[in-house]
Amino acid sequence: MKKYSIGIDLGGTKILIALVDKSSGEVIGVIKKKTKKEKGPTKIIKKLLEGIEELLDTFQINLNNISSIGIGAAGQIDRNNGIILGAPNLDCFDFKIKEILSEHFSIPIYLGNDLEVAAIGEQKFGAGKNSSDFVCIFVGTGVGSCIVKNGNIMYGNTGTAGEIGHMIVDLNGRPCTCGAHGCLEAYASRSAIETRIEGALKKGRSSCISEYLEEGKSITSGMIKKSIDRNDELVLQCVNEASEYLSGGIASIVNIINPELIILGGGLIDAVDYFYNETVKKARLKSLPIPAKTIKFHKAELGDYSGVIGAAFLEDRIL
Ligand SMILES: [Zn+2]
Repeated sequence: MKKYSIGIDLGGTKILIALVDKSSGEVIGVIKKKTKKEKGPTKIIKKLLEGIEELLDTFQINLNNISSIGIGAAGQIDRNNGIILGAPNLDCFDFKIKEILSEHFSIPIYLGNDLEVAAIGEQKFGAGKNSSDFVCIFVGTGVGSCIVKNGNIMYGNTGTAGEIGHMIVDLNGRPCTCGAHGCLEAYASRSAIETRIEGALKKGRSSCISEYLEEGKSITSGMIKKSIDRNDELVLQCVNEASEYLSGGIASIVNIINPELIILGGGLIDAVDYFYNETVKKARLKSLPIPAKTIKFHKAELGDYSGVIGAAFLEDRIL
């Protein structure tokens, strides 16, 4: 077995490219590229090529020592052909990412969904280590999930199962990036909270989050945390609203799938304990009484790295 693999987490805000030790799961080094304002296939490929070369250069590793490149992408994918079919948060559609990267790197390349790789990472080395029956739900730019049942990832008929973010929670609700209306993601993601806060500020509401805002930059999970620590009324209101919706979505999952464990992760969960605690408390109250008694909740343990670690192990598909 070759010692290393490259794991890539391709998200709506950033790309993480990591060198991962295959025997221990340890992240040896990581390169971070922002995607927030620069999206679309051409820009993403450029960042990936630069990032991978930078990683190999920085750690003086030859491609001969790398077993594979695994990518977890935020969107619907064709695993067999390595195509990102539709990723609105990346502005990529029918994007033949594997074919393009194969022209530059002569090692196997695997593509998975971002939550699929996070679940693989958490199952191998994190909060899902002792469970073969769990659902990973990550909240950041969007809301994604991966269902693991009897140790296997539930892919669904077209390989797109687990899109909890597009569970419709309001028939006449807010527009979603997927084209539908009223999806959970439009209410419970960090982006949804950001839109609510910005809208209120424009209407003249005051909030201490204004002190952290920079022109042209978005509201981060860190800013949300700092504002909550200061008991900011507007931010608390927006976060509570998101938590109401997210807990409703989670309760639906608990009722439908009846898993042993829910693993919650992603930037917003990671940074804002208040959001995690409120969501867990409300989700238990909203679930049916029998599953509510036994359902366990756990924060993802690998933090920002669950995706890159899982992506590095996509080649094994051990789950
Ligand atoms: Zn949607």
